[in-house]
Amino acid sequence: MSKLLEVKDLVIKFALRTGEVTATNGVSFTLNKGERLGLVGESGAGKSVTGFSIINLISKPGYIASGEVDFLGENLAKVSDERMRSIRGNRISMIFQDPMMTLNPVLTIGTQMTETLHQHNPNMSKEEARNIALDKLCKVYIPSPEKRLAQYPHEFSGGMRQRIIIAIALLTGPELIIADEPTTALDVTIQAEIMELLMELCETEDMGLLLITHDLAVVGQVTQNIAVMYAGSVVEKGLTAQVIANPQHPYSQGLIAALPQSSKHGERLNQIPGMMPTLKDIPPGCAFNPRCSHVMDICKTETPCLRLGENGNLVACHLYPESE
Ligand code: SF4
Repeated sequence: MSKLLEVKDLVIKFALRTGEVTATNGVSFTLNKGERLGLVGESGAGKSVTGFSIINLISKPGYIASGEVDFLGENLAKVSDERMRSIRGNRISMIFQDPMMTLNPVLTIGTQMTETLHQHNPNMSKEEARNIALDKLCKVYIPSPEKRLAQYPHEFSGGMRQRIIIAIALLTGPELIIADEPTTALDVTIQAEIMELLMELCETEDMGLLLITHDLAVVGQVTQNIAVMYAGSVVEKGLTAQVIANPQHPYSQGLIAALPQSSKHGERLNQIPGMMPTLKDIPPGCAFNPRCSHVMDICKTETPCLRLGENGNLVACHLYPESE
């Protein structure tokens, strides 16, 4: 499989008035064409800022301090704003958690879809734009698409609105979709339907998917590969099935133990003790050390690099010997 996206040693910083803080510390992962990769971790792990950085949507005072975002051979961390505008929403589309934040409540769905197409191709005829919009609504299984084009966002259910967001994301035939918690606001049945739809579209449209979520169950259902993030670093990555069946990093183990299906009926849900550190107080050594039941002296002083775990995946933990 050929490479679609490679994030290499990405360091994102925020220049605050009180000093600089590091939001991601050398994040690296690869996504091949047509593959689905899950970026997972608790809130504050740095996964969303990593996703936003790919299309240069980090809000100031954040910035990419070093590293590369290689998208089909082009380093997006270095391209001009104009070049990025031609890639964002065109070759790379983003789906956010709340459709109402993305949709304009005073414009019909049809207007929003055709305007998006005209932004990317001002010479496209109205009829062609309308036909493409109809085609994409059919692809996301919106019933009566002709009638729906004339309706406003408030006339759709939450699940239907998220389908429309996906249809808008598809308009320009992107090679990569970045979906940030795309189903968190939806109920469980609709969540499963939207995830099924995303998987189907990735296959039929030959798109890569970077799925950003706190929900390991969703990642397990949708992705082939996973990168688990903690306090701005990737702590375990590899095949999703192997990480879920046999997690190596104590943080991944804690996330999996906290899944509802890991507890017996009537038992309290497991949880990882303590909280994710804020950017200002990430502890030295392994950032997970204050919450880890396996902590050793070395963990408090030396930051572990990624090495081979027992499941063949890469894990950043002193419990495993460093690779030769
Ligand atoms: Fe726990 Fe040490 Fe491994 Fe960090 S490096 S996860 S503190 S055992």
